[in-house]
Amino acid sequence: MNKLQETSIQYLKGVGPKRAKAFAQVGINTIEDLFYYFPRRYEDRTNLSLISGLKEGAIQTFKARVLASDQRDSWRRRSFSITEVSVEDKTGEISCVWFNQPYLKNYFKPGVDLILYGKIEHYGTRLQIHNPEFEIIEDGEGESLDVGRLVPVYSLPQGISQRHFRRLLKDGLDTHLPSVNDCLPYDIRARHNLLNLAKSLLNIHFPESLQMQKQAYERLSFEEFFLFQLPLVLRKLKKKEKPGIAHKIGGELVKEFISSLTFKLTQAQERALGEIEADMAKPQAMQRLLQGDVGSGKTVVATAACMAAIQSGYQAAFMVPTEILARQHYEKINSQLKASGGELNSIRVELVTGSTNRKHREKIYHEIKEGKIDLIIGTHALLEQGLKFKDLSLVIIDEQHKFGVSQRSLLPGKGANPDLLIMTATPIPRTLAITLYGDLDISVIDQLPPGRLPVKTIYFKQEEAKRGYEIAKQELAAKNQVYIIYPVIEESYVLDIAGAKKMYAQLKSGEFKDYRVALIHGRLKQEEQDKIMLCFKNKELDLLVSTTVLEVGIDIASATCMIIEHAQRFGLSGLHQLRGRVGRGSQESFCILLADIETEEAKQRIEAMVRYSDGFKIAEVDLKIRGPGEFFGIRQHGLTELKIANPLTQMQLLKGAREEAIKLLNLDSRLEARQNILLKERLLQRFPAYEKSMLVG
Ligand code: ADP
Ligand code: MG
Repeated sequence: MNKLQETSIQYLKGVGPKRAKAFAQVGINTIEDLFYYFPRRYEDRTNLSLISGLKEGAIQTFKARVLASDQRDSWRRRSFSITEVSVEDKTGEISCVWFNQPYLKNYFKPGVDLILYGKIEHYGTRLQIHNPEFEIIEDGEGESLDVGRLVPVYSLPQGISQRHFRRLLKDGLDTHLPSVNDCLPYDIRARHNLLNLAKSLLNIHFPESLQMQKQAYERLSFEEFFLFQLPLVLRKLKKKEKPGIAHKIGGELVKEFISSLTFKLTQAQERALGEIEADMAKPQAMQRLLQGDVGSGKTVVATAACMAAIQSGYQAAFMVPTEILARQHYEKINSQLKASGGELNSIRVELVTGSTNRKHREKIYHEIKEGKIDLIIGTHALLEQGLKFKDLSLVIIDEQHKFGVSQRSLLPGKGANPDLLIMTATPIPRTLAITLYGDLDISVIDQLPPGRLPVKTIYFKQEEAKRGYEIAKQELAAKNQVYIIYPVIEESYVLDIAGAKKMYAQLKSGEFKDYRVALIHGRLKQEEQDKIMLCFKNKELDLLVSTTVLEVGIDIASATCMIIEHAQRFGLSGLHQLRGRVGRGSQESFCILLADIETEEAKQRIEAMVRYSDGFKIAEVDLKIRGPGEFFGIRQHGLTELKIANPLTQMQLLKGAREEAIKLLNLDSRLEARQNILLKERLLQRFPAYEKSMLVG
């Protein structure tokens, strides 16, 4: 297949420089790109509807001939044109209407045959179809790509029609398929009953039957999963090859730490800690992901792991995405250690963030290098070059999705292959986790500490804000604390929503004038933010008006009510994270969503929040609403590069592909065996920069 990857699309008949440009815009540069440009959907044109059989409200495909066409300006707006075309078949007539596409008129000469696709509507007593997709059909000779079969429909490059695109693609396939080599080794194909590549490509575009389309889809999805798993699995194997640090497990520090806590670990926490300790004891470096909903208690588990590292005479580093969170962890861990007395007292913990002043920072750097500091907690600041460890053996990265992939490996780089634990509070279904984090082992804390009530989540319309404020006042009257969250700092005329600043002024002198109210947002100086948070924590404040700076990790048990205004402006995961800031103690807590619901998606998000409190469930809904690509937002995960495979619906296939990847790399980690040569080429071509060194190194 590599030849086709090198062959520019321009070598295809009918593709000149101009068209090549349009193709490039949708990511088609080579002939192989074209073959891997899969249809958006298929239309079954083996049995087209007849006009007499069209039903209002249905989305249907039918064939018809143009009777007459007409173009006029809208009577409402002169600049707005309407193209109306009546078409017929032997059973009836229907009118097709296009808005504001005056150039269409030229296509619809009487007698021209069309295939039309769209939603059938009613207009007066007659059927109509608005802005249908259409194709002009000519009854050519030989095989038709456009009628009488399952027909592929593509997201087209600019300036080319469905028909033309199909023709180009089919000619390309006919010419080049005979020389296509299959990169999947034969025995893997045989074990999983997979079609060969040439047949799959042909049938994904021009299926002989629905059955063959399915098989082609399976094969191509398997290939994609397999290619994605190979580098991940390989990385995992490589990391295990390099010698790491074998910690002594079962020491006093961990026991002391756990027994000094004011609570008992949940079973899920114990299990996760057990898995982590088992990894730490091994002479290979741990590569583990710890998943758990907000409030499930990941921090204590991570801290216990730090104790294990320190017990063995090493240093641990704990990196978090924000300043506030870093400070909170620092204070909490410090107070836990101090409270216990005994050996824990002598552990030295320090904090480094962007706002640590230079002098102090240099002192800390020095002490870290000397090995005088056992546990260092901080933000990105920990990644700075000047910071060097004496003996780093454990790295913890909290809320890892807030860091880039490259940042993820920087901190471990400061030790001799230290153990790595990364944590996420956006738990995702296991198959997705495997797709994204196939190079990691996974632990899950799937249980909340006992006695915690689910946060009662209530939705009111934005205009009913008062009802939300009433609930907040009840909580305040009970000596509890309240957050009110806004999506923006300044009000915005474009978005037409109130900002935190203005609302703070209003609420403080109006609705909540009897209470101590403060404002916090990301544009305040760090010390300022910290001061306010501290006041709130010490109950010197009753109500905090805030933006999403509160999003991560803030842990204040007496905050029992959160109002999120303009909740439709937040993503589902964001809302869930915010909600996790309340319900941290044993009292019943409230999350009030004030929203103007204008879109179906916003409605789904709010409904999910009201209905579910479990982060796994929330993630599942979010994934359904947005699709995996959007869900992760950033390209970093490569998930958006999955063109055809879907980890959410093809679990078995993914598992199979992963097992095969492990089996293969265990036998031939450099892919040097003859039967793996093509696979290696394909892999390097797919992941050129990032995996080349792995394969040869
Ligand atoms: P997250 O998983 O969101 O990082 P945290 O580690 O911040 O959760 O824990 C949330 C709160 O629950 C903290 O105040 C923590 O001390 C407390 N906590 C953790 N584990 C338990 C437990 N087993 N029982 C009771 N409270 C716990
Ligand atoms: Mg946390």
